[in-house]
Amino acid sequence: MDRVAVLDWSSSGVPKLGKDSIWLGLAQNGQVQAENHATRTAAYQALHQLVAETLAAGETLLLGVDFSLGYPQGFGQALMGDDSPFAVWGWMADHITDSPSNAHNLRMVAAQANAAFAGDGPFWGNGAKADIPGLPRKKPRLAAGLAEFRATEQAARKTGLRPKSCWQLAGAGAVGAQAMVGLHWLEKLRQAFAGQVAVWPFEQPTAPIVIVEVYPALFDQDVAAAMAQDRNMVRDALQVKILAQALHGLAAAGQLGPLFAQPHPLAQQEGWIFGLGHEIALRAALPARVLPPRLRDDCFAMPQGVNWVPVDQALARLRAALHPVTGTETCPTHAAHGRVLAQACVARRSNPPMPNAAVDGYGFAHAATGDGPQRLPLVAGRAAAGQPFQGVVPPGAAVRILTGAILPDGVDTVVLEEDTAIDGAAVVFDGPVKPGANTRKAGEDVAQGAPALPIGAKLRAPDLALLSALGLAQVSVYRRLRVGVLSTGDEIISSPAQLALPHQIYDANRPMLLALAQSWGYQPVDLGHAPDDPEVIRQRLNQGAKEADVIFTSGGASAGDEDHVSALLRASGTLSSWRIALKPGRPLVLAMWQGVPVMGLPGNPVAALVCALIFGRPALSLLAGAGWAQPQGFWVPAAFRKAKKPGRREYLRARLNADGAAEVFQSEGSGRISGLSWAEGLVELPDAAIDVGPGTMVRFLPYAGFGL
Ligand code: AMP
Ligand code: MG
Repeated sequence: MDRVAVLDWSSSGVPKLGKDSIWLGLAQNGQVQAENHATRTAAYQALHQLVAETLAAGETLLLGVDFSLGYPQGFGQALMGDDSPFAVWGWMADHITDSPSNAHNLRMVAAQANAAFAGDGPFWGNGAKADIPGLPRKKPRLAAGLAEFRATEQAARKTGLRPKSCWQLAGAGAVGAQAMVGLHWLEKLRQAFAGQVAVWPFEQPTAPIVIVEVYPALFDQDVAAAMAQDRNMVRDALQVKILAQALHGLAAAGQLGPLFAQPHPLAQQEGWIFGLGHEIALRAALPARVLPPRLRDDCFAMPQGVNWVPVDQALARLRAALHPVTGTETCPTHAAHGRVLAQACVARRSNPPMPNAAVDGYGFAHAATGDGPQRLPLVAGRAAAGQPFQGVVPPGAAVRILTGAILPDGVDTVVLEEDTAIDGAAVVFDGPVKPGANTRKAGEDVAQGAPALPIGAKLRAPDLALLSALGLAQVSVYRRLRVGVLSTGDEIISSPAQLALPHQIYDANRPMLLALAQSWGYQPVDLGHAPDDPEVIRQRLNQGAKEADVIFTSGGASAGDEDHVSALLRASGTLSSWRIALKPGRPLVLAMWQGVPVMGLPGNPVAALVCALIFGRPALSLLAGAGWAQPQGFWVPAAFRKAKKPGRREYLRARLNADGAAEVFQSEGSGRISGLSWAEGLVELPDAAIDVGPGTMVRFLPYAGFGL
């Protein structure tokens, strides 16, 4: 494709420019630009001209539009007795009017379409003040047989994306209205250049002009990263540019072919999101500038004058500041434990691949059996797992079959061995047996081509079982996040293997934090221990910026004389000290050091662990590509008393007693490391005041729920 255009459409009823209006991105000759159109009529004229110019130049154009090109199966049939996608396009072109001032009648047309269906829908949602008879404001029940989502939207939703249903005509992200006015104009374009335009996946992409449906949310990460670099950008303009660039990049590399493979049996009828399942290839085709996105140097800045930040607000800020920072690589499935998927996995093979027997017994054709005693002669041989039966089992005969064996030709039903007797060369049992009894259908677990795991999934042992069963020998994963850990303090001595003088204490934080990083599936990078000497700390941070993607420090993070970590980071200009309303924990220091995020944890091991679990874990998870990580907790009765004051959230070292009630460590002293080890989790007390007594329900967050 010589040119790639991406259209961000709008169903506005009035002319509109800027945010949420019509944007047309165009990539050609390695250049990309975005133009803004106030009305659909103007945008159509621009498209018409672009197509005419492309054809005149003897070139080819891929046009991606951000609305659905089809409807769920059965819509056209019910509407006008023809389920072919272009019949629906023609219907829209005939019924929709769209004036040069952007006034349209799409809601009336939707109501008219609804009249062809039982019940109130399928179209719903009315952003206008006036009611429209036949167009419900709320989501109605769908008529029997009509799906809410097309197969492509279902596939996208399984990867964590959230496309809306094309029946929904109003509300944030609703694409339904845009599709109605969009198909009207696309049909005009198709007629104007008949024979030169192909619409994929309804047609082969062999014409000079190929129209596909795109979903810009596939690139949200890149858009966010680009926005972070330039706040004056219009999001929609960026979206069309990034998408046009990615598609143009793939086209230039001659790699568009796989994206045109038929993705699903329903695609030819319903349409399909172009590029779904090919996100990695698409993102890899972007210029390096937007991949991988860099964190901004001021990403941790807190607004001026903020005093104590509630924990939830601090978490929300952290979540907004961070995004994945590592590149991607391919990894054999068997070695992918703990790795984070950088691309959604789709089944290469069905599970089970063939229909097979669920029990040991006898297989036969159900049609030749009936009620009452059955006597079926046995054919010679047997069917076992890994040893398929080669012949055909004639109707009225049976074959010995074992669990997991492929059903031989002529067999659709299996009777359980325990329910039979053998009489000479025949098997005897009581009918009726249900058709298909004791068999597993091919693909009944997962069908070939079905989504298996979404992007961002951190692979656990059961996930490796699934991926292997589905024939995936390798997966695309984010590079393992490297987590640097540095301890600071003149009093700290590196290892208990060394002799400690009376004024020295052993480093407890570093082994703890390195082990946390390891158990979360990251690569721990030991940056050792630094005395309270700015030069040594600087040198270690420099080393960390080279060898790690993120650095945890502990100690020296307050604002006192001996708080050298914060002093140094402040001098480097990016320090942000978050005073979080949290106990235990002093200010949490967040900074960027040579482009690498630094999280300065308190020196106190109890506070260091709490901050690492509550703030460090979700932050690392985001950086690693696995998304924000919420700890798992549940409500249990307390087995302790505590009158907690309002104003800050508290985490107590706790474990469950034999009755399932939470008991807490006898001392809250934050130097009591033994309590960390005694505990099996934390009790989280709310920001507000609370009087806890035996039986009061409290939230228990087990260590296991933090991935420990
Ligand atoms: P700081 O945050 O440097 O003021 O340290 C607070 C307390 O935690 C002091 O009592 C330190 O001795 C102690 N501490 C700091 N770092 C460590 C460490 N790595 N292991 C054990 N205790 C530490
Ligand atoms: Mg210190």
